[in-house]
Amino acid sequence: MRKEDTVGIYVHIPFCASKCPYCDFKSIVTSDVSEKEYVESVLRELSFTVERESMMGLPLESVYIGGGTPSLFSPSSIGRLVESFRKAFQADDECEITIEVNPDSADPLKLSGFRAAGVNRISIGVQSLDDRELKALGRAHTAEKAVEAFYAARAAGFDNIGIDLIFGIPGQKPHRWRDTLLRALALRPEHISIYGLTIEEGTPFASAYKNRKYGASESLPEESEEVEMYSSAVELLTEGGWRHYEISNFGLPGHFSVHNRRYWHGKDYIGLGAAAHSYLSYPGWGRRWWNEPMPSKYVEDIKRSGEAKIGRESLEKDEAMEESLLLGLRMIEEGINGAAFMDRFGVYPREVFKKHAGLERDGFLRIDGEDIFLAPGGVLLADEILAIASSP
Ligand code: SF4
Repeated sequence: MRKEDTVGIYVHIPFCASKCPYCDFKSIVTSDVSEKEYVESVLRELSFTVERESMMGLPLESVYIGGGTPSLFSPSSIGRLVESFRKAFQADDECEITIEVNPDSADPLKLSGFRAAGVNRISIGVQSLDDRELKALGRAHTAEKAVEAFYAARAAGFDNIGIDLIFGIPGQKPHRWRDTLLRALALRPEHISIYGLTIEEGTPFASAYKNRKYGASESLPEESEEVEMYSSAVELLTEGGWRHYEISNFGLPGHFSVHNRRYWHGKDYIGLGAAAHSYLSYPGWGRRWWNEPMPSKYVEDIKRSGEAKIGRESLEKDEAMEESLLLGLRMIEEGINGAAFMDRFGVYPREVFKKHAGLERDGFLRIDGEDIFLAPGGVLLADEILAIASSP
């Protein structure tokens, strides 16, 4: 149906120094794949994909190097990746290039190396600024180390720093979360993401915290406490000047995440590396594919054929519409743009939401002309509202 004129790249670096007990991301601690071999494979996958999709020379809007722990890699490996992306696509100085960094692998030399390699945005996995909570999460760093990493990133020349924080941690109380927020705000990062801890099946946390509290040394906060934590974050951050532009994301003006906004706007991106997902909005209503998650198998597949896809799907019109509605609602300030939606799907979102008129009446959705937004009452219950909004 449409072909975007810009592209984003996600690179997955699936290695971690240790495995956090709550984490279900695709990452491993030991591997027989070397850093060099992995980078070579990503570069081979890049050329293969660019050629197959005839993407050479398209404007590159963003690169996101995530994981896992990409900061385990050397600046020269990251530099090789960035340089190759710049060669394959057309990237100007505005191109946002982010790397995720863990405080325990963020030494000043390495951070300066990333900056020199062309990375211009850093996302630091701070998670909490309370040592008891970091310990409860099984994180390898301390609060002090996280603050040091932040200042080291500033000293290395990064003027666009994001930090991630988690609430709903075992043993956490609303006043302790508030302390973490106040300490984080004092650093004045350009971007802050807050995520509620979810207990994912198959993780050590899931066995310890089944049924919310039993068998673990610290109990999980009550649901009402989690609501209080989220609300206090919204209040403190917006009062401090960060705009609440997406359910979990806050940015100082001019510092919203370019890369993540591509996802929420349904724009094209290619994912490189083990377990990476890609999405292209053409032909038809769009398609996605995803890669082999095991690094050794990924490297083998790439060596053999230049690709490591293990799954793919083409979207039907109603699936594409549903995704567009749900992603649009997540964007608190922008909402679902009625005109753009009409342009793509031939129908106004208001028509699609007719069957859920109760959501507006009860103060969960706000309709302004043809645009639709989550109302303040809906933001707190976003997951539930999104589930209702997507039901037939
Ligand atoms: S560092 Fe991040 S990706 Fe690695 S195990 Fe911990 S939470 Fe998961």
